[in-house]
Amino acid sequence: KEIVQMKNNLYCSKRIMTFRPTMEEFKDFAKYIVYMESQGAHRAGLAKVIPPEGWKPRSTYETIEAMVIPAPIMQVVTGQSGLFTQYNIQKKSMTVGEYRKLANSKKYCTPRHKDFDDLERKYWKNLTFVSPIYGADVSGSIYDKDIDEWNIGHLNTLLDMVEQECGIVIEGVNTPYLYFGMWKTTFAWHTEDMDLYSINYLHFGQSKSWYAVPPEHGKRLERLAQGFFPGSAQGCDAFLRHKMTLISPSILKKYGIPFDRVTQNEGEFMITFPYGFHAGFNHGFNCAESTNFATLRWVDYGKMATQCTCRKDMVKISMDVFVRCLQPDRYEMWKQGKDITVLDHLKPTEVSSPELERWRLDRVTFRATYSKMKMPTEVKKSRRHPLSKPPTRSPLSIVKQDPTSEKELSSPRPIDSNMKKQQHLWQNRSPNFLAEKAFNAAVAALQPHCAVCSIFCPYTKVRPHTSPQNDTRSVTPTVPTPRHGNLTRPLVPEMCFSVGAGTTEPPPTNCHIGDDGTSLLIRCSSCHMQVHSSCYGVKPDSFNDSWMCSRCVSRAWTVECCLCNLRGGALKITTDNRWVHIICAIAVAEARFVNAVEREPVDVSAVPETRKNLKCVFCHGNSANQNRGACIQCSHENCATSFHVTCAQIAGINMKPADWPYVVSVTCHKHKKFISLYVIGRNSDGWFYHCTIIGMATQKYYEVNFEDGSYCDNLYPENIVSHDCLHNGPPEHGELIVVCSPEGQCQNASFIKEHPHNFYQVEFQNQSQLMLKQNEIFYLDQELPKRVRARLVKLYDDTFISFRFVITSTTLQE
Ligand SMILES: [Zn+2]
Ligand SMILES: [Zn+2]
Ligand SMILES: [Zn+2]
Ligand SMILES: [Zn+2]
Ligand SMILES: [Zn+2]
Ligand SMILES: [Zn+2]
Repeated sequence: KEIVQMKNNLYCSKRIMTFRPTMEEFKDFAKYIVYMESQGAHRAGLAKVIPPEGWKPRSTYETIEAMVIPAPIMQVVTGQSGLFTQYNIQKKSMTVGEYRKLANSKKYCTPRHKDFDDLERKYWKNLTFVSPIYGADVSGSIYDKDIDEWNIGHLNTLLDMVEQECGIVIEGVNTPYLYFGMWKTTFAWHTEDMDLYSINYLHFGQSKSWYAVPPEHGKRLERLAQGFFPGSAQGCDAFLRHKMTLISPSILKKYGIPFDRVTQNEGEFMITFPYGFHAGFNHGFNCAESTNFATLRWVDYGKMATQCTCRKDMVKISMDVFVRCLQPDRYEMWKQGKDITVLDHLKPTEVSSPELERWRLDRVTFRATYSKMKMPTEVKKSRRHPLSKPPTRSPLSIVKQDPTSEKELSSPRPIDSNMKKQQHLWQNRSPNFLAEKAFNAAVAALQPHCAVCSIFCPYTKVRPHTSPQNDTRSVTPTVPTPRHGNLTRPLVPEMCFSVGAGTTEPPPTNCHIGDDGTSLLIRCSSCHMQVHSSCYGVKPDSFNDSWMCSRCVSRAWTVECCLCNLRGGALKITTDNRWVHIICAIAVAEARFVNAVEREPVDVSAVPETRKNLKCVFCHGNSANQNRGACIQCSHENCATSFHVTCAQIAGINMKPADWPYVVSVTCHKHKKFISLYVIGRNSDGWFYHCTIIGMATQKYYEVNFEDGSYCDNLYPENIVSHDCLHNGPPEHGELIVVCSPEGQCQNASFIKEHPHNFYQVEFQNQSQLMLKQNEIFYLDQELPKRVRARLVKLYDDTFISFRFVITSTTLQE
């Protein structure tokens, strides 16, 4: 009975609830949220609130037609089979009236439909076609000034602490945003910044449909997304915060992710709860207003919220003030990183606490005393719809032809000389099982110690330096190299085995991978090939010291891969009784694992002639007579550079897991840019240290002449209060402007010009980051000026330096 109860709790989560407060109940916002949670509303992650009959936030909407939408976005969607990526491209500003006409135009208007189910089907079927325009993230509120109930501009929740204690305004988070929608405009799967609550009111127009995952199941949605978008997951710890990922309800159903859906109509509120993932779309022209807010229960969520680790402009709220004011007994421990917080997604929030009461009281006193003093306010902007460029990748399994390639290919590119010596591995030489065995053993000794995972860890000179054993060599006792019998984490995402030959069936769950994501390394007793049991598709418990790979079981000593030109490695049988490398079958788009879990047999019948005719830039001509196998190509748009998977691997070509519906992204030599550049940079303490360039940025400064004859050439655009320079760019030369200093002093001035300054974003060895000017950076091979040499701090971490330096010098050579 207990197990049944547990199962109920696990799988039958609360549905989205609808509330209809009376006018009396509607007066106190915070109190009503507490009531909703006492009824369990937060468990679904989303709830609807229908305001009392007769309440309206604005007397008329006729007057907003002239309002400007400064930065509408065009939403371009790519993908297929229920899994999509959305890119937002900024368009030029327009008025609400113009937007309404566009939304109702033939091209963009809502299609004819029978009912909601029909419209929803049409949405998921057509979202990659006409790209709709969304008037999103417009700062402002259209509530009438005197509205006291549920006023999105003045909710008076404890999120106000951010502005009142820290002087930080984050547009859209602690100020309202307006959204002008049309058919198919979309918000991707996300939780709020810092996992806050949000409130959304649909002022007028067509409905907005929502999907929501209960917070207690949010991690399952994150894992599902990581599985389909391994490229993004590798680049960022919280890539769903980029708000680009669309997943259809049919995919959620297929993977058993609990979710619910609801349609919000004109005049209705939606509340999202901390860590409640939600997504949705608009049915047609409409207007909504929203912002974030907080309750006491949120504070722990804010402390635990994951952060995007790849973008600089993402919203992060310091939790310091909240912990200090509201959890004073935990503050010291928290600051030391010892505060253990376990989130309870089921527990409802409290109205208040003694600490919160005290803060509110202090705030009243503070206001009375200092009301005339204006705190410097830092204004940031949260993009609910971050801008991004669609990728320049050619469609899946298109074979690109390069008219110039014939000439260029006259001599093949050199590959590593060590590898060249392994002559007997080439398929045009007579087979040599002992040489294969030696090669397999050598691959097993290198990171990542699996013949399949090695596709994402190309064989290069760099590799010995990157292994963790080497990094810690001098400090800690040597960690033994992982070998057969050990558990390590496979690098090849499951998706790689299930996509191919036009099938875009999502992957089945692999039972050979443990709950911790690791898999047993196993070694063939005959050919010494080492793989993860999951990568090779065998049950870990079938492994013992005499285990043999399929090829050795078949006693197929002289077989070769039908898709490449090299022997050795992890082979599987094909449907036409030939043999193929698992890695070749992964990377050649048309090859398909018939049984995706057992990784065999492999169907290569769909590989087109055009692909078989491509010439490998590394090995063509090695075999005087023929082209063998089939080549993959550089993923860069229009780049036709071709190579065998195994040739690419030993030549150190960079292959990485890619997002759905791609499997592998490949970067040829021509398109390889520096990954990172090791330099010497000036730190904030005035000394020079080794550091790594991790990005570049441009900051615009304005030059102005003040009325009193003085001038300034390093003014930030946001210091000009008479113009909205962030949206509209710099004023005209000589235009009269008002400049406000951070201290709040305003002065008249005339605008002169804009100065762009280039900055390098660098990271020091202690992981601190700085923006440095060109003249604060020095290259390792350059003669250092005396002032730099005198203040150069040497940190002895040779492996770090040599590793970075090898990457730099090899790429520069190219
Ligand atoms: Zn990110
Ligand atoms: Zn593996
Ligand atoms: Zn074997
Ligand atoms: Zn092969
Ligand atoms: Zn080749
Ligand atoms: Zn290329």
